[in-house]
Amino acid sequence: MAGLNLIEQGRLHSPWITHFDTGSCNGCDIEVLACLTPKFDVERFGILNKGNPKHTDVFLVTGPVTKRSKQRLINLYEQAPGPKVVIAIGSCACSGGVYGDCYNVEGGIDQILPVDVYIPGCAAKPEAIIDGVVVALEKLKNLMLEAKK
Ligand code: SF4
Repeated sequence: MAGLNLIEQGRLHSPWITHFDTGSCNGCDIEVLACLTPKFDVERFGILNKGNPKHTDVFLVTGPVTKRSKQRLINLYEQAPGPKVVIAIGSCACSGGVYGDCYNVEGGIDQILPVDVYIPGCAAKPEAIIDGVVVALEKLKNLMLEAKK
């Protein structure tokens, strides 16, 4: 990949992921975990669910943002050195979904963080999640290239 150093190419070919649930029903979380099972096996593409915000290339966020989880979400995001991308998984993460009008819900992820990729669905399907990661990696590559200008 022209213009990118070895570390950047490594990040794109084997992205490390942090998955955070801001208040979902766990339906979308189960689909994220399904991506790791032998049927989908995203690790064969080098995608690793590390859960360490300090080494995160891609944030997968599920659920509507509750008032209780809001600050934790911000803390996790700010620990990642960047460039980094955020994927909102499921209708709740995209817009608040069925929980949107609840007294303790702030709304979708984009009310708190900049979201790069939206994956709708209740629950979001594993195929759509994997496709979203591919789109997110293209955005991550563009962010890396823009940082060099
Ligand atoms: S989109 Fe549906 S499955 Fe996913 S967290 Fe919301 S209610 Fe649950």
